[in-house]
Amino acid sequence: MGVSAAALTATVNRVAAQNGGADDVLDVAVIGAGAAGLTAGFLLDRAGVRFRILEAADIHGGRARKDTSLADFPLEMGGEWIHTTNQVLNTLSQSDDAAQRAAEWRPVTCDVLSGGRLYRENRYALEWRGEHRFISTTWFDFFNDFMARDIRGRIDLNTQVTRVDYSDDPLRIGLANGETIRARHVIVTVPLNVLKDGDIHFEPELPRSKQRAFSGVVMPDGFKLFMRFDERFYPDMVLFDHGYQTPEAEIMFYNVSLDKPTGQNILGLFAHGVVATPYATLKDNELVRAALDQLDQLYDGAASRAFEGHVLQNWSKSPFHRGTYSYFHGSRPATLGASIDGRVHFAGEAYNRRSDGEWGYMHVAARSAYDAVDEISRS
Ligand SMILES: Cc1cc2nc3c(=O)[nH]c(=O)nc-3n(C[C@H](O)[C@H](O)[C@H](O)COP(=O)(O)OP(=O)(O)OC[C@H]3O[C@@H](n4cnc5c(N)ncnc54)[C@H](O)[C@@H]3O)c2cc1C
Repeated sequence: MGVSAAALTATVNRVAAQNGGADDVLDVAVIGAGAAGLTAGFLLDRAGVRFRILEAADIHGGRARKDTSLADFPLEMGGEWIHTTNQVLNTLSQSDDAAQRAAEWRPVTCDVLSGGRLYRENRYALEWRGEHRFISTTWFDFFNDFMARDIRGRIDLNTQVTRVDYSDDPLRIGLANGETIRARHVIVTVPLNVLKDGDIHFEPELPRSKQRAFSGVVMPDGFKLFMRFDERFYPDMVLFDHGYQTPEAEIMFYNVSLDKPTGQNILGLFAHGVVATPYATLKDNELVRAALDQLDQLYDGAASRAFEGHVLQNWSKSPFHRGTYSYFHGSRPATLGASIDGRVHFAGEAYNRRSDGEWGYMHVAARSAYDAVDEISRS
């Protein structure tokens, strides 16, 4: 994953010289401080260029979010698994000691609900082995410790972008508070639903090819619910039916405490796609009740008896997300990730422009920032 810092610095120095070195023009503005935005900031900082990250929420991290209120170890409210080798953490952070934060996920026991009956089918748990998770830290900590460490002062929180005008050079970025920021390049990393919903007005409008690509991709409903129990009555995984273990729709209960440094019983419910919608549209307390009722039915009322507390992150209702992560119906992701005019760049889980067909993952979002910054360095 190579971005030439020298090439990038040379590019922005040339551009700054053309601009008469105007102080109020950024080399790069990054919209969004999630996995992609923070990785872009990390790379731009190393290259010594002038940039800011504009983030609508009151915290950085995006869908890398953690909770420390329910358990004695941090819980992953968004992305959790490392869907590739843990060495990717070293590669992304250009360090030697990030990969050791993660270990293989090793579920052993598994119940499957099929045809209204519960079966113990441990072989399905074994099929899930090989994925990695963080041991006592989180994806949020990874981005916070490695990517954001030196750039916190350049992340503007509570700063919602409403307009990108690239009809002129420098381009103008309009904020919800009425301010305008000028920059040579912009890297847009907002979630796909935010882009699709038109939260950011582009002037001129986005090319037809990109708008057409929107119709081939969805970012569906989904949530993470974590519950603490005073006894363990469940296996490592509870699957609902194998029709619902696809990239498009997924639902499972899972033993979050597995391989964690804890004696607490934390059970997670993760749902994404059409199976999540009936839950995700409920009020928070109704969603928790529905999950407990489901467990009570499966385990003879044990859930309600042992229930101690919960935390919930409903991504469908998150104002700057409105869904989980993208799923493509055959369209080419490269179209979504393509830059416009060599000045408006895209990075994030939905905007992978490589031909590997990967999307939705944390490491893909971070890697796409390498591609966007590399593209700027070549412009
Ligand atoms: C429930 C769930 C489970 C997941 N599980 C996994 C997993 O196990 N493994 C995995 O690899 N991935 C997983 N993912 C996906 C992973 O979390 C995402 O791929 C990754 O976090 C996306 O990063 P990003 O930078 O593309 O977007 P984000 O992290 O969403 O960053 C975009 C940022 O843009 C900001 N923003 C939005 N609108 C504006 C605006 N107008 N102006 C300024 N800022 C704005 C947002 O607030 C946000 O901070 C999961 C996601 C969810 C929701």
